[in-house]
Amino acid sequence: HQTVARIAAGEVVERPASVVKELLENSIDAGSHRIDIEIKGGGAGLIKVSDDGCGILSDELPLAFARHATSKLSSFDDLSSIGTLGFRGEALGSIAAVAEVEVTTAVSGSPSGKMMSLRGGRGDIVRPIARACGTTISVSHLFREVPARLKFLKSDTTETGHIVTVVSNYSLAYPEVRFKLIVDGRDTLMTPGNGKLRDTAIEILGHHVAARMIEISAVDGSFSIAGLVSAPENSRANRTGLFLFVNRRWVRSHILSRAIEEACHGLLTVGRYPNAIINLRLPPSDTDINIHPAKTEIKFREDGKVFEFVRQAVRAALLGEAP
Ligand code: ADP
Ligand code: MG
Repeated sequence: HQTVARIAAGEVVERPASVVKELLENSIDAGSHRIDIEIKGGGAGLIKVSDDGCGILSDELPLAFARHATSKLSSFDDLSSIGTLGFRGEALGSIAAVAEVEVTTAVSGSPSGKMMSLRGGRGDIVRPIARACGTTISVSHLFREVPARLKFLKSDTTETGHIVTVVSNYSLAYPEVRFKLIVDGRDTLMTPGNGKLRDTAIEILGHHVAARMIEISAVDGSFSIAGLVSAPENSRANRTGLFLFVNRRWVRSHILSRAIEEACHGLLTVGRYPNAIINLRLPPSDTDINIHPAKTEIKFREDGKVFEFVRQAVRAALLGEAP
């Protein structure tokens, strides 16, 4: 039974950064304003995410770790109109199958919080504790019981890099949330949480790039786009400067990446790439949110229409044309 659970968990939890992604999504779904992330040893040692969100009701605490337990989706039809990042109810259960997990949580108005710890996917001890409204989840010894996975992990520096990427992306997607990342005891990143994309971008991309980024803004029927693209002189030598969100969900998309690169055609030196933060909104029915947790590449119903919309909006911004 444990083996099956661990294999299934591998679908969701590929590396420490996947744990961080799932925990951040849960904290965001919980309506948090402040999310603190602490990691040690590239995340394999410790990942701790604390939020000031709605908390988990005591009765629901053991259930939250059951596989396919979600409080967010009431029927399959909801899939087309999902308003939360999570909906599969797989993450916490999968994480608990391959790590030691400790949760403390409190809901507002409750006189005390609860603490629960899990080992090998099995929960013990639910006991009262004192804490403010919100949830803290600590994940330690990730993959200790799964040597094949542990062997596959790269250096602490590389794994930390993946985690920084995850936190950076969610910071840019949710500028109204204040994110703080501590790596091996060092303050590594802290966003202002003031709702301003540029101020958040200054923290993530640096003042020299973000202060000069150009605003992107366009609407066409049910499609809209907002974001920032770097001034041509702030191009970069690799393709890692794109932060792509569709309906506030972090996505990978060749269509979007190509549309942005096309928009820069002739404006950047050959072999240079833009920095861009793109928030695309379109009817959920025009997208395919993958049921499979590991696949992050988004599909659009009309690729060509999305490509042209994004290309034109970014091009207009770069050429200084009014939206
Ligand atoms: P999903 O996010 O797909 O619902 P998860 O396994 O990630 O599934 O989480 C299971 C449930 O645990 C969630 O539906 C939610 O009710 C609860 N939960 C998890 N993390 C938090 C959190 N930080 N704050 C409040 N509730 C949480
Ligand atoms: Mg979730």
